[in-house]
Amino acid sequence: MDRLWLEKMFETHVAQTSPFSMRFVVSRAEGCYLYDATGRRHLDFIAGIAVANVGHCHPRIVEAVTEQSQRYAHTMVYGEHVQEPQVLLAAEIAKKAPQGLDSVYFFSTGAEATDAALKLAAKLTGRRIFCAFHGAYHGDTVGAASCFGHSAFRKPFQHVLLQVRFLRYGHFDDLELIDDDIAAVIVEPVQGEGGIIIPPEGFLESLQHQCRERGAFLIFDEVQTGFGRLGEWFAAHRFKVSPDLMTVGKAMGGGYPLAGLIGPREILYRFAAEPPFSHITTFGGHPVSCAAGLAAMKVIEEEELLSRAQDLGQFLLKSFKQIAATDTSIKEVRGIGLMIGLEMVSAEKARKMVEQCRDRGLILETTLLAENVVRISPPLIVGKQECEEALEIVEAVLKSIRD
Ligand code: PLP
Repeated sequence: MDRLWLEKMFETHVAQTSPFSMRFVVSRAEGCYLYDATGRRHLDFIAGIAVANVGHCHPRIVEAVTEQSQRYAHTMVYGEHVQEPQVLLAAEIAKKAPQGLDSVYFFSTGAEATDAALKLAAKLTGRRIFCAFHGAYHGDTVGAASCFGHSAFRKPFQHVLLQVRFLRYGHFDDLELIDDDIAAVIVEPVQGEGGIIIPPEGFLESLQHQCRERGAFLIFDEVQTGFGRLGEWFAAHRFKVSPDLMTVGKAMGGGYPLAGLIGPREILYRFAAEPPFSHITTFGGHPVSCAAGLAAMKVIEEEELLSRAQDLGQFLLKSFKQIAATDTSIKEVRGIGLMIGLEMVSAEKARKMVEQCRDRGLILETTLLAENVVRISPPLIVGKQECEEALEIVEAVLKSIRD
């Protein structure tokens, strides 16, 4: 199909999220690479924003999806029929999740999981105020958008949002603001859209302690950090914290829409009573997505992607730090596993870096709330050679944008 025509139709008929989308016409994707309409290969170092953890079109995922779509797709709304891929995936997640979180409520998007977690905490505590953090992003449904840690994004909708008290991420003093009125605190164990922010040592433990003291639910939003990105199945393992509830999405479905709220069975069961059906969804846990998700978990295990994320994450972090030591455009390099951020001296530099890397065939992107931070989140199947290729491009671009 004609590329220019497609681009024009995209602009005319596909609702836009900003005036500056990438305008990248995808022709196909494989492993760590995307191919555009001219057949040019691009190294994907954002993985569809932390989705393609097992790479694009992994043969195991293609096989699982093909097989499941030939057996059955949607048969009944979520929670009614016993569907093998859903059951097997839930059981597999229960094995990997922190102890006690043995049940999964399936959704299609991370924002739905956020809303469900907030609703459940409200139902169980009878409280009406939530806590979230400045710099947080939990999705864009009304409930999730209420927890958006940037006032400019809340402002147009403020009159319909939930009551949320915002705390400064990493500030121990602010934990005192979690009092007996708080139904739940939602937190990203590493802030993604806020600019790849790692909490200070002991912060998440203190947060857990304060939540327990005050009877507030602690919700870990693991939509970006879950399923291996930090080199562990979940960030909760990395930080040795046991949240009451966990939300997941993105990489969970191996590239297919899938999300979940993970918690103890007796807690999640409260959606099934008083009244029954007090939270429902049609497509949550779609069998084809669950088959893909199950295959993705097997790939993570069999290809030892957790240790690969740790090793290559260390390699990239060290290499970027070395580059930053002699370059004035980068202010700080930080990250855990393959969730890395390059904080540039300005948003303008970050934009130049992203655009010029793209011109050279390396796909990068800034984070939503910190436009001066360039995110590095390649598929976890990435190899040393691809990392070296990316580092070479970044170095060349840094030279060309030097003042
Ligand atoms: N939570 C986090 C930490 C996210 O990064 C995102 C999306 O970027 C979401 C929730 C929302 O997920 P979704 O876009 O699937 O609604």
